[in-house]
Amino acid sequence: MDSITPNEIDIVRASSSKINEIDFENLAFGNIFTDHMLMCDFRDGKWQKPTIKPYEPFLLDPSAKVFHYGQAIFEGMKAYKDESDDVWLFRPDENFRRFNASAKRMAMPEVPEDIFLGGLHEILKIEKEWVRKGKGNTLYIRPFMIAIGTGVIAAPSTQYRFMIILSPAKSYYSGEVKVIIAEHFSRAANGGIGAAKAAGNYSAQFYPTKLANDKGFQQIIWTDDATHTKLEEAGTMNVFFRINDTLFTAPTSERILDGVTRKSIISLAEREGIDIQVRSVLVAELVEAAKNGSLKEIFGAGTAAVVNPIVGFSYQDEYFELPKIENSVALKLKDKLTNIQYKLEEDTFGWTV
Ligand code: PMP
Repeated sequence: MDSITPNEIDIVRASSSKINEIDFENLAFGNIFTDHMLMCDFRDGKWQKPTIKPYEPFLLDPSAKVFHYGQAIFEGMKAYKDESDDVWLFRPDENFRRFNASAKRMAMPEVPEDIFLGGLHEILKIEKEWVRKGKGNTLYIRPFMIAIGTGVIAAPSTQYRFMIILSPAKSYYSGEVKVIIAEHFSRAANGGIGAAKAAGNYSAQFYPTKLANDKGFQQIIWTDDATHTKLEEAGTMNVFFRINDTLFTAPTSERILDGVTRKSIISLAEREGIDIQVRSVLVAELVEAAKNGSLKEIFGAGTAAVVNPIVGFSYQDEYFELPKIENSVALKLKDKLTNIQYKLEEDTFGWTV
């Protein structure tokens, strides 16, 4: 990986650190940020020199295009600390590649590797105390890009801001997750932006998800927009279904985010000799499997929660509860994956950097 050397990046150190004020045992996800942030602007057709400086708000013109047309993309990744105090990233090249795929889809400039990965490397060196030791402790990394060019004409901006902010996080546990299977609303459509980590994909889910929350469900499993018969993914997670001893997950498409956790779980399952099939599962198949007892597990997979077991689902106002099982494949795969991330097990895939 190309690396920015510190003389190619302006570094302004915070005069003091707030790290001693942080209760690392009781962190709500994504609310606390470290002392520094990385900022790099694109203007006059090129990326300017990146800066790492104290975390602080900044001013934007009210006509900045991000406010009006939502030209905004982001990534989510994590840093982990091993027992020897070394800091590790998990498949960061995948996030870098996906970020630029999102940029392209949103008519935004691609961010060079030395700014995205090199800049990340530099800011992590400065903030390494914020990555705490121990399985479950992580530093959540949020790279993002917004359109800061001014003017309310509906056209792509000519100026952008790329940033990286960092938030210490405990293992994300959202409690029992019950889901509703989407019958009316859609998250994405063919030809749309579902495969991009574009801000609008998330705000578009808030309203249907709120309706689901009001009924006592935490998330929605989205179905294909054309027929609502194929199971796709959840809010910020790809989804896996275990029917008897076979694990299924939908293929990625224009509508589905190509999750790093998803593809890692597929590789791990193959290595562990678990029967895994990448194909669309029909809602009808799932309901049938729930009725005849062959449905064993449903789980979401994503960076924030790693693996999140789902305890039941609702479809057409009927609720199906999953069986309580002893040998959860979800938890086995989660354990394998986190062991690699925390360097507790040999990384035979070469995923950790
Ligand atoms: N689907 C969506 C819509 C997401 O936002 C995420 C989180 N990035 C995922 C799936 C899981 O992707 P990853 O494993 O790369 O975090």
